[in-house]
Amino acid sequence: MNFIKKYFIRRILKKHAISYSEWHHSTIKLPLLQHLSNKEKVQLRKLSTLFLYKKTMVGAKNFKITRAMQITIAAQACLQILNLGMGAFNGWVEIIIYPGAFKVNRKITSANGLVHHENNTLSGEAWDRGPLVLSWDDVEHESYNLLPGYNVVIHEFAHKLDMLNGRANGMPPLHPNMPIEQWSQTLSQAYELLNNNLDNFQHSYINPYASTNPAEFFAVISEYFFTAPDILFQYCPDVYEQLKQYYRQDTLSRAA
Ligand SMILES: [Zn+2]
Repeated sequence: MNFIKKYFIRRILKKHAISYSEWHHSTIKLPLLQHLSNKEKVQLRKLSTLFLYKKTMVGAKNFKITRAMQITIAAQACLQILNLGMGAFNGWVEIIIYPGAFKVNRKITSANGLVHHENNTLSGEAWDRGPLVLSWDDVEHESYNLLPGYNVVIHEFAHKLDMLNGRANGMPPLHPNMPIEQWSQTLSQAYELLNNNLDNFQHSYINPYASTNPAEFFAVISEYFFTAPDILFQYCPDVYEQLKQYYRQDTLSRAA
């Protein structure tokens, strides 16, 4: 990092710091952060400060966003990029927060040109180069309780990481020491196995929503990587290993 960039980062950290009491008050309630080392917690607070400086959080339908809400979202999003750096969230700025699950009604054009309307109620969604949208009810429930395999913040920000190198396809930009074929093969095999198990009415081990498409598969296995690494490791140790290399974190050893 060059001298000028370092100077600006120091200035942001100093001028816009999350105070210790604000940080403590919000993060003490988050089970995902409880096993971090002190060094990691310091790094997470720095990243969260930069995150809140660079991103805007807007309440939909006049929903009032408190500092505690901002920190709850920032801290868990930044847990994902703890060893990736803020650049992993480049290319977009806005986070829109609804008080609860929100309805979307869209015109979808399928590959064969058919147009249909889709009506869905969502807890979150991530737009390519656009905003990330969250339902606070869901964020609150899944942040303050450790629910194995479920965390909407991790899920939607995983989509953002995936979109850093184009449309979400289940493969974020890999590090130079990570062979692309190994990632593709490992994740494709696990994805196929999941779909076969579901087709044959067998137990799926992980949330069946992961079978929707490769992008959802990556987002769901990321949720397991942070909330229930033991389940992910049992389900497929090779997938766990790929995520460990990508996120540069060993969540399994942390939770033990
Ligand atoms: Zn998703």
